Amino acid sequence: MDQRSVPTLLEIAAKSLMNNEPRGIHALQVLPKHLFIQLFTTAFLGRYKKMLKEIVKVWPFQCLHIGTLNIGESPYDILEALMDGLQFLPTQNSSSGGSKLRILDLTQSSDRGITCYYRARYQFCSRSCVYSQHSILEIEESQNRVRCLEMDASESEPVSPRKRIELLVDISFSCTMRKKQFISFLKAKAEQSAGSLHICCRKLQIDIMCVHARSLQILDAACISHLEVNRVHLRNVINLFPQLIHLKILKLTSLPLQSCEGRNFNIFLNWLGKLEILQELTLSSFSLTDQLHKLLRVLQPRLTTLSLSLCHLSKSDIIVLSQSFQVTCLKQLNLSNNKIFRDDYEPFLSLLESVSSTLQHLEINNCKLTDSVLPALLPPLSRCSQLRVLSFAFNAISMPALINFMQHLTTWMNLQYVIYPIPVHCYERSNFHVSVNRQKLAEVQAQMKHILQVAKREDMCCSISRV
Ligand SMILES: [Zn+2]
Ligand SMILES: [Zn+2]
Repeated sequence: MDQRSVPTLLEIAAKSLMNNEPRGIHALQVLPKHLFIQLFTTAFLGRYKKMLKEIVKVWPFQCLHIGTLNIGESPYDILEALMDGLQFLPTQNSSSGGSKLRILDLTQSSDRGITCYYRARYQFCSRSCVYSQHSILEIEESQNRVRCLEMDASESEPVSPRKRIELLVDISFSCTMRKKQFISFLKAKAEQSAGSLHICCRKLQIDIMCVHARSLQILDAACISHLEVNRVHLRNVINLFPQLIHLKILKLTSLPLQSCEGRNFNIFLNWLGKLEILQELTLSSFSLTDQLHKLLRVLQPRLTTLSLSLCHLSKSDIIVLSQSFQVTCLKQLNLSNNKIFRDDYEPFLSLLESVSSTLQHLEINNCKLTDSVLPALLPPLSRCSQLRVLSFAFNAISMPALINFMQHLTTWMNLQYVIYPIPVHCYERSNFHVSVNRQKLAEVQAQMKHILQVAKREDMCCSISRV
């Protein structure tokens, strides 16, 4: 029998408390501290919302992380239940002494447990906010400074009875009703706390058409390290986020294709140049033709990811990129949906040479790649010794050329994942309609599988581009 399928005594006890909610809630007052982690895990995975709220109310550790727990569908119901348990005023009539919770971390991550109690000697949770003026660390430090200055004074300001709490949460502003409700819930919680709650959002996604600048006032831009904005105009992003200084990842998608010239572009470049620790930049649907040199002039040298899909890059843009100092650090490069191989593709080969020592992930989907270009790609690609992912979907390639190319790819032992295009012979045209022949597609997939088997590369994953 699988050992993991046998529940432990602790799991059985936790489950039985869930099945009798009033008894379970009452038991929280007397349960030993170390049982809370199992109890929380059981309540979370079983989606016992009332129980989760009560557990947070009396949580005996300083921090509580969702960590690796699978939140499943309808995540906002669970997140709201947890936030509902936050207590900003000390609990009077509680034998357990109330919650010790200072940091509620609702972000999912594989690198932390439910709490940092085993690291108590470090005093603070490793996820504490270190950037905001409203963070616990910053406020307590400034309170300590004030206390030191007032040591000799007979009377000092009474300390607020309210507990300071940090709420770590990824936020997505979009037009969907449930997401809007969640934002309203967050706002209400912030108001209820009367300034004691620091909403620390490090990953923020925004659909610009669905957010009003006022809604963003509950956030501190200093905390944001990952920002994604869809349907953005350059003017919006500068106006909404003048204070971003700790941004590591920036993804902007423009709609419709936006010209990158003139005053707004210059202001945007000035703003971008101030992002001193930016590591990943994604621009999609921006018309950057012959403008890339301006962008590269302001970007940090430590950039590890550059994605410029559908940016109308010209030959001179690719030349500029291949000669820039940023490419020497790039690990991920996405140039999809640019007509790179339509005419002279020599600059792209030079670019591959420039990134060869660091590149791990390359996407050149829908770039007008043809049979005649594939052999020329092999020498510089083979020198990209770190390359693990290659995607060249949505290019018009014949089956013989694809087979030849794939046979070379299987000899590169670091390459783990390949996404290849549907070969041209699989497409069928009737009248004005183009469709894919499923039978032919299945044969292609079987042939690719055979190539991997012959090369003894079962560790390599090859998938065909989606139809
Ligand atoms: Zn912690
Ligand atoms: Zn923060």
